[in-house]
Amino acid sequence: NSSVHLAMKIIPYADDARILIARDVSKLMHLEQMRQDFVANVSHELRTPLTVLHGYLDMLDGEDDPESARMFAEMRQQSQRMNQLVEDLLTLSRLEAQEHSDEDVVSMPFMLAALRREAEALSRGRHKIRVVDNAEVDLWGSNKELHSAFSNLVSNAVRYTPVGGEIDIEFNRDGEGVALSVIDSGYGIPEAQIPRITERFYRVSNSRSRESGGTGLGLSIVKHVLNHHDATLEIESDVGKGSRFTCHLNANRVVPRQVHTISPV
Ligand code: ADP
Repeated sequence: NSSVHLAMKIIPYADDARILIARDVSKLMHLEQMRQDFVANVSHELRTPLTVLHGYLDMLDGEDDPESARMFAEMRQQSQRMNQLVEDLLTLSRLEAQEHSDEDVVSMPFMLAALRREAEALSRGRHKIRVVDNAEVDLWGSNKELHSAFSNLVSNAVRYTPVGGEIDIEFNRDGEGVALSVIDSGYGIPEAQIPRITERFYRVSNSRSRESGGTGLGLSIVKHVLNHHDATLEIESDVGKGSRFTCHLNANRVVPRQVHTISPV
């Protein structure tokens, strides 16, 4: 279309004067829109063939010959990985297109219980998992989006923590707001790389990231979801000691705990 988008900035100049700088960013916005549409379309188109491949793989599996069994296992793993990538890309492009799901009261006892189950399922008894609910309030936001953000942090904690390590999920008061922290005693992240790990597809360059089966999109999803909830992500990490990812949510996201949400954590 022919609309023009301007980026404007006002700079103080002397006591009673201001300078207005306007830049035409129409072309940039158009390119960004094209990029977003492209990612959304490609991801959507990849979904169907992947589902078909997945289905046939399941049907054909069951080989006795160890070499074939090994190949089937590898094919299944790779197709699951591609599935995850496509789902993450779709989630990210929905968030970028500002297609947000409805907001409502998010029950934190249910949320924390779900996160615990997910951590336990991924860990399969290989880590010590603790969940602490000190805040005793609920949140206002998109249940689906917040769940996907928190569960990305939990799955990272499990995947980047060696066997026998500890994973803590804490929900605390934080000034007028609240904070959800996922703390692990895992490999940690080199300081220089911390600012970059929330970028799309960015992964710390070591074999662990490659072996972890992740997509490199998890933390960019977390960042988008938190932005949309006026929240911020704080990352602290020590190589060889562990990491702490904290989501800080403002007071405007806090609601008194609802009476019907009394399920045990
Ligand atoms: P991935 O799918 O690769 O896990 P993410 O966006 O979730 O993608 O994370 C980006 C990178 O940040 C990871 O590849 C990993 O190198 C690093 N990382 C994320 N969480 C942790 C953690 N808890 N401990 C150590 N490294 C982490």
